[in-house]
Amino acid sequence: MNIILLGPPGAGKGTQARRLMDKRGMVQLSTGDMLREARSSGSAMGKRVAEVMDRGELVTDEIVIGLIEEKLAAGAPGGFIFDGFPRTLGQADALDGLIERMGQKLSAVIEMQVDDDVLVERVSGRFTCGNCGAVYHERTHPTAVAGICDACGSSDLRKRPDDNAESMRQRLMEYYKKTSSLIGYYHAKGLHHSIDGLADVDTVEQSIAHVLDRA
Ligand code: ADP
Ligand code: AMP
Repeated sequence: MNIILLGPPGAGKGTQARRLMDKRGMVQLSTGDMLREARSSGSAMGKRVAEVMDRGELVTDEIVIGLIEEKLAAGAPGGFIFDGFPRTLGQADALDGLIERMGQKLSAVIEMQVDDDVLVERVSGRFTCGNCGAVYHERTHPTAVAGICDACGSSDLRKRPDDNAESMRQRLMEYYKKTSSLIGYYHAKGLHHSIDGLADVDTVEQSIAHVLDRA
């Protein structure tokens, strides 16, 4: 089963994708993570996109579609979770073609709805483990031992450079201008489901499971 988690930055897509990987053996494909990896590797592409990401703007469709195409080639018996991709109609169109070429289909697009003020609060307190990717929040979900990842024991805990109020304003603008039209696109295809992303993490997980068990 291949699914898309759709929602603005801070909606909880990465948090839920990790749970789906653990429980359903699916593979998370986060273009944000891939781009951050390219940046830290110092590749030419990574250098090109760094400033765009820090400003909170979208990188070109060509770059992200290329990244996704590479990952799809490896296949995933439990299916893929697309997290933060697609973000434009051009990307959605390209994804349709890629999935069709694999002889597969999209089963559901789950829109996670969260109010803007809550998104800003979530993103400003977010930190992640640089080793295993676990996602935390300074106030609502800190690590059990300060400075040590609960999941893997690493002390490489990081805050994202774009998780600040100014970049967040731009990222939200990009979402409403360029990404939210995908809701209509997938509604027309009969794939769109919306869930309350304001609920606690376990309840959101249950809402997603409810959709997937019927897809
Ligand atoms: P996204 O991948 O959509 O940008 P994340 O999964 O990284 O969002 O979550 C953003 C922040 O919000 C993180 O600090 C995470 O711990 C927190 N968070 C995620 N889901 C919830 C939730 N349901 N309730 C409260 N906080 C949450
Ligand atoms: P994310 O980790 O999903 O919040 O993405 C972080 C940043 O990476 C975004 O603000 C964009 O600059 C860039 N990015 C991630 N995914 C995409 C995408 N599908 N299309 C364009 N830019 C993206």
